[in-house]
Amino acid sequence: MCKRIVMLATAAALLMISGPAAGKLKVVATLSDLGSVAELVGGEDVEVTVLCPGPMDPHYLPAKPSLARKLSRADLLIYNGLELEIGWLPLLIAKARNPQVRPGGRGELDCAQAVVTGLLEVPIGSVDRSQGDIHPLGNPHYTLDPRRVVEVAALMAERMAMLDSEHADGYYDRADAFAREVAARLPRWLELAGQAARYPVIVYHRHWTYLADWTGLNIIDEIEHRPGIAPSPRHVRDVIAKGRALGEVIVVSAQWDYQDAVNEVAQRIDCPAVVLPGQTGALAGSDDYFAFIDMICTRLATAAAELGDGR
Ligand SMILES: [Zn+2]
Repeated sequence: MCKRIVMLATAAALLMISGPAAGKLKVVATLSDLGSVAELVGGEDVEVTVLCPGPMDPHYLPAKPSLARKLSRADLLIYNGLELEIGWLPLLIAKARNPQVRPGGRGELDCAQAVVTGLLEVPIGSVDRSQGDIHPLGNPHYTLDPRRVVEVAALMAERMAMLDSEHADGYYDRADAFAREVAARLPRWLELAGQAARYPVIVYHRHWTYLADWTGLNIIDEIEHRPGIAPSPRHVRDVIAKGRALGEVIVVSAQWDYQDAVNEVAQRIDCPAVVLPGQTGALAGSDDYFAFIDMICTRLATAAAELGDGR
């Protein structure tokens, strides 16, 4: 009898070591891009919750108590880093009281660490955040580059395998499959986005820097004065003057950007304005990461065709 109790206790301890106690690994992702990739890498072994839904700008998510409750039960927190979530994630982590996902915890994963290809617009020297710049550590929007997201997927698999060793092979296999799918789709994506790369592009926010890095898109200016700072009338006039001087340009924004300013610039230049999903699920039809990049590239090609038709 006594021996049987010992065996049961040993079996229970082994279960706790090899994987999450209640079956699936509970993953919380801040951005929907990261959530979609976590679902693709985690497959049936994970249950993914996204804190910032697709239509909402992750720079400005309200730190609601309901989000802290989601975090309190998480085995793994996956976040973008580079202070993109600085306005709300530290608050949620503090409220969640879950040591697993606190900085340095086994279940805390800063995906920016995965981006070995390199980060862009990293400032040299100190940055004064009091001026309102919301990209103080460099441009944080690396999920707009599928090549860098392949690196992120590999890091996710590694951490999921560490937390749930029983299903390690599945995590690594699915991360490999994700990389193969990106490689298979890249030529078509480049063909589509490349059509827009023939024209100068004006963006609202510096959200598309990594998109430009892999597609060759030629971004010449931003409507925002600085990242996160609303455009002044003078700055808008300067951007319009620059666009008019160049003639054929495309104005690119995310659906959550200030569309009055976007439309004013496009109308006064007399050029196409293309609205892109800011993250996965931001617009209907961009429901997973592949559909998201598909939509971006297709819409850019459509805007380029509009210019090519000789408007
Ligand atoms: Zn930003």
